[in-house]
Amino acid sequence: MQALTNRVKEVERKPMSFMEKLYIPAIAKGMAITFSHIFKKKPTINYPEKTRPFSPVFRGLHVLNRDEEGRENCTACGLCAVACPAEAITMEAAERLPGEENLYREEKYAAKYEINMLRCIFCGLCEEACPKDAIYLSETFAPANYTRKGFIYGKEDLLIPDPKTQPEEYAKARGKFKNGAM
Ligand code: SF4
Ligand code: SF4
Repeated sequence: MQALTNRVKEVERKPMSFMEKLYIPAIAKGMAITFSHIFKKKPTINYPEKTRPFSPVFRGLHVLNRDEEGRENCTACGLCAVACPAEAITMEAAERLPGEENLYREEKYAAKYEINMLRCIFCGLCEEACPKDAIYLSETFAPANYTRKGFIYGKEDLLIPDPKTQPEEYAKARGKFKNGAM
């Protein structure tokens, strides 16, 4: 048979010795290795009851931020989408109407904001690009899902809880921001 590379090596198959045919030394060796691990420190943890501390530079699931009055920070400027190397962010801008000043901080807001977590590489460039402190990468994992559609996170999944109506949840989400940044 013609070899595709010059790395081909012929393997010599020696007949098994009597001891090898017994398999007992090999079993004993395997058991010794297993027993030697019993007294070693376990590298595994009981996740999700226990979690490992994150690295200070860990980048997890995105959070769309609100200000202290509960208004959405995002102005749908699109800079995050432009900065995103994976083209994972899409949005639709809308004009704030009179009477909506308590919902949106500026005259323009994102009526639709989506991140495709299957495309996202969690590089953090969207966070870097945002001039309004509107998007952060938290220390939360992207949960598993059975469908592709389930990995497309909309505004309802990304928006931080409203500090006025859900102060505890808001504080909890704030605490999970990297370096406690807001
Ligand atoms: S973390 Fe990176 S890849 Fe993910 S949405 Fe932001 S810019 Fe795009
Ligand atoms: S998240 Fe920031 S960069 Fe992205 S559209 Fe909103 S304000 Fe602009």
